[in-house]
Amino acid sequence: AYRKRKEDINTANVGSRPIELRSDEILDGVTGLIDGSAHKGNTPLLRINSLSNALGVEILGKAEYLNPGGSVKDRVALRMIEDAERDGLLHPYTGSRIFEGTVGSTGISIATIARARGYDTTIIMPDDVALEKVKALEAFGADVERVRPASIYVNLAREYALHFTGMNTPGQSEALPRTGRAHSYATKMAAPSVAVTAVAGMNGNGSGNENGNGHASFDEDEETRTRPRGYFADQFENRSNFDAHFTGTGPEIWRQTNGEVDAFVAGAGTGGTIAGTGQFLKSMTGDVLVVLADPEGSGLYNKVKHGVMYDHKESEGTRRRHQVDTVVEGIGINRVTKNIELALPVIDDAFRITDAEAVSMARFLVQRDGLFLGSSSAVNLVACVKLVRKMGWGNGEKVVTILCDSGTRHYSKVCTLDFGWRLFSELIVWLQRQ
Ligand code: PMP
Repeated sequence: AYRKRKEDINTANVGSRPIELRSDEILDGVTGLIDGSAHKGNTPLLRINSLSNALGVEILGKAEYLNPGGSVKDRVALRMIEDAERDGLLHPYTGSRIFEGTVGSTGISIATIARARGYDTTIIMPDDVALEKVKALEAFGADVERVRPASIYVNLAREYALHFTGMNTPGQSEALPRTGRAHSYATKMAAPSVAVTAVAGMNGNGSGNENGNGHASFDEDEETRTRPRGYFADQFENRSNFDAHFTGTGPEIWRQTNGEVDAFVAGAGTGGTIAGTGQFLKSMTGDVLVVLADPEGSGLYNKVKHGVMYDHKESEGTRRRHQVDTVVEGIGINRVTKNIELALPVIDDAFRITDAEAVSMARFLVQRDGLFLGSSSAVNLVACVKLVRKMGWGNGEKVVTILCDSGTRHYSKVCTLDFGWRLFSELIVWLQRQ
């Protein structure tokens, strides 16, 4: 039997079926698994059978949780890092360190790619995010700092990056405050990197400058090329975030649906997904609806519906900034970032989804579809259902959304809640009535 098999393979046949020889499918390391545009990877589009059958439409989820770093953010992290390398802001294996403020997914994606590319990472996150994310970050060797109030996590990452870069850049360090958290952190972290530069025989010439974004630019001579750099990835304002979706997620969805997509539904954390994917799909057809799925406590719903971030009731309450124990992580925001700015013109409609609805949907998907998804995916799918009901669809319309990450990232939060079970049975009853 073995000889027979060997002969089959030699003739590139198994039985009567020819085997297509595709050694070009071997991927170039972990980043080869990410982003169908630049690499071979490409996330599947998954039909959510329970909801599709019940509603008479095609609810299709882009399975981003299958990315090696476990979320849609792999695309963004890879693009931000590649763009920074192209712009000379990062150099592998020289002690360069990537800084980011994140509720977790982006940090894990950055830490994953950073390991494969020879960078260190510092991740600043609010102290109430699910512990699974912290564990994953630590497994990748990221230096994790959890902070409160949550409102400081992005700015602190920026400051850390500036100080870290300044610490290694004669002429720049003088301009930075010498006291404070960022300075002492940079002093601690910069020390080994300075040793690397000493080995490389560096004197420094004071040519560094900073552009206010936490990014530093340098003259590209041999000395400065080997200098450790702090790069603040800045997913909220970074255009590479938008680009990853405009050239990756959007075209993939277009291809996978044969260009037949009636609606694209997504939440917004930085806004990169809905902006990039939404803009791409709109550029292909004016007929596609781009719909925001916004969780409780986020101001975006009001921004889309009424043009202002806050209504009277919410003027004090802001998601992440003041609220503790939020269930849904990764989406919802109360300020207009660059990527949100790019999203707003293409958003046609918005739904506000409660934490309870999200948890109930998450449970429903486990029970009915065998899909254990994260809470932001569940928010997206609740919005898909609401959109279909509002539009009166039921003739096979295609609604595409993002399955951002897996439930394993949220286990400690979502799976310990009681109110889900009540709503879960309500959802089943409701779907059975459809
Ligand atoms: N889902 C999860 C789990 C996330 O972490 C994020 C990003 N913070 C999003 C959705 C939202 O994606 P975007 O930042 O592109 O709006």
